[in-house]
Amino acid sequence: MKYYSTNGNAPLASLADAVRNGLAPDGGLYLPVHLGRMPRAFFDNISEMTFREMSFAVAYMLFGEDVPPDDLKSILADTLNFEVPLVKVDDRIFSLELFHGPTLAFKDFGARFLARLMSYFHTATYGTSVLNVLVATSGDSGGAVANGFYGVPGVRVLVLYPSGKLSALQEAQFATLGENIMALEIDGNFDDCQALVKQALMDDSLKGNVMLTSANSINVGRLLPQMFYYFSAYSQLLHSGATDSRMVVAVPSGNLGNLTAGVFAKMAGLPVSRFYAANNSNDVMCRYLATGSFEPKPVVDTIASAMDVGNPSNFSRILALYDNDYSRICADMCGATYSDDLIADTILNVYHHNHYLLDPHGATAYRALADNLRPGEVGVMLETAHPSKFKVAVERVIGEEIDVPSRLSVFLGGEKRSIGMPSSYGLFKRFLLSL
Ligand SMILES: *Cc1c(COP(=O)(O)O)cnc(C)c1O
Repeated sequence: MKYYSTNGNAPLASLADAVRNGLAPDGGLYLPVHLGRMPRAFFDNISEMTFREMSFAVAYMLFGEDVPPDDLKSILADTLNFEVPLVKVDDRIFSLELFHGPTLAFKDFGARFLARLMSYFHTATYGTSVLNVLVATSGDSGGAVANGFYGVPGVRVLVLYPSGKLSALQEAQFATLGENIMALEIDGNFDDCQALVKQALMDDSLKGNVMLTSANSINVGRLLPQMFYYFSAYSQLLHSGATDSRMVVAVPSGNLGNLTAGVFAKMAGLPVSRFYAANNSNDVMCRYLATGSFEPKPVVDTIASAMDVGNPSNFSRILALYDNDYSRICADMCGATYSDDLIADTILNVYHHNHYLLDPHGATAYRALADNLRPGEVGVMLETAHPSKFKVAVERVIGEEIDVPSRLSVFLGGEKRSIGMPSSYGLFKRFLLSL
């Protein structure tokens, strides 16, 4: 499969190049030239397949020309070594729990898959030279990528994050690791961190001296594996007996990577009736869906902090996937936006009435479904993180202490090893050259 750039000014790339480049040379994002459809027989059998089996079928459709089946199987086996349960929250709404991986958030899927895919391609071509992986994080992606690559030979990860904007746990998940993981604490916001990464990746004089790539949600090798769990949601819905209802999927949205993966799944044949892009007060996507005009805005801080994004990078992919056709986009998705007060209200209500504890991000998706589902529809909300990742905010809402699973709390015992840096490209570049 070849990959094209959304800016339309770069040569077609192989999967290996698209994964290594991260960003296309013209500054655009890569998309597959042709997205296949899963065959009818796949959907006939999907309720009998394990998550690994259905993921392999989808992965083979996407990557079968580029990675031999046995290597693809072992990449998947190492990536998907945890459960993805669909849990009933109320009569019409199910929660797809994407937080059973090592860092308790959905970004484990893409990050673990990408780490293994990159290492597969890099060592095949460059042997032992060091590849630097740049990642800007607004929350969980740094931890997921750092843990995905931790200890992988020949690869060094640099995590750029906004000083003071992450929870202690989120920061500890990458800043305490050491070894091949470096944490750069930037005096700025997430958009500043993302801008430093983008500028470095487009700087030819820098790239002549240091091997650089990215692992943000802009990397197509991180995005595509996020399709897998949408198929699992459907299969588990069939098992739950919800066979005559139309499936509506709500996605807590920031940079729109998760939603883009959902759109891929639908285009590959998954019967999703429509999506909800659930926003916090950073409602750029929601406003676009309501008005047809895309206007990036300064970030405001919310309790769903991993969605505090003012200029969502995957928007250009969504436009490209629908040939810039606003009416086709609106036929497939709607927006919903919730203030911190409504998010808190939702967490509290669902906790008391349904005995299910949402995290602030999942709460936006739950609320989008609760407010908008029509008769004959069943809702799947993506629960993108375990509530204990946002312990302080969630405890304040419910007025009770919550347990932190041990695979998360272990990070808090480690020593923080971040390097502080102003938001200056000149300094960042000098630092990279000194490595
Ligand atoms: C990153 C993140 C999101 C937003 O996902 P996008 O793919 O950037 O839209 C939502 N919830 C949590 C917990 C996250 O970490």
